[in-house]
Amino acid sequence: MPDISDFKKWILGDLQTNTYLLWASDGSAMCIDPAESEPIDAFIQKNHFNLVFVGLTHGHFDHIGGVQKLIDRWNASLLIHPGDTAMLRDPSKNFSAYTNQPMAVSAKPRSVSHNEEIRLGNAVIKILEIPGHSPGSIGFLTHNRVWVGDALFYDSVGRTDLPGGSMTQLLESIHQRLMILDPDTRVFPGHGPDTTIQREKEENPFLEGIR
Ligand SMILES: [Zn+2]
Ligand SMILES: [Zn+2]
Repeated sequence: MPDISDFKKWILGDLQTNTYLLWASDGSAMCIDPAESEPIDAFIQKNHFNLVFVGLTHGHFDHIGGVQKLIDRWNASLLIHPGDTAMLRDPSKNFSAYTNQPMAVSAKPRSVSHNEEIRLGNAVIKILEIPGHSPGSIGFLTHNRVWVGDALFYDSVGRTDLPGGSMTQLLESIHQRLMILDPDTRVFPGHGPDTTIQREKEENPFLEGIR
């Protein structure tokens, strides 16, 4: 099964969220966690891509700021796990109510679940459920790359002190769903630099107990 052609990363919003755009050979594109819409929109236009999906690793406010505008403009499908769907419409649930920029997304989402395969052009992107940072946290897996949102970071893991978070569940997710991937798999988190499964297996201080 062919892989995606390439991807691009932006660092956007007040919390420096990593927003990614993945595209296939036919120009079909998927945006992961758009914290803002403008730079993504401009890049899609310039390259004559077609935005087919907006995929959310989870529903926290720092990952959804550009969702509504991109969906409205490109008529893309919004992919999210049902565990986080309620966050879209409710600023207190996505925690933007506690910032100076409350936000909500009214677009109707399409629910995805574990092991589901999303077709982007001729490429396949697989959904991994990795709850713990939030109840509906998911990863997007291609051949040798995985986008993990705030589940796993370079040398760290996601915070679990917010409502809906669980450290026990997060470590279980990382162990059962991420550490079993090919060690060479590149990991693209929601914040900070990218890494690999092998690197985090060996160096991440939060994973010492489950190595
Ligand atoms: Zn988060
Ligand atoms: Zn985040």
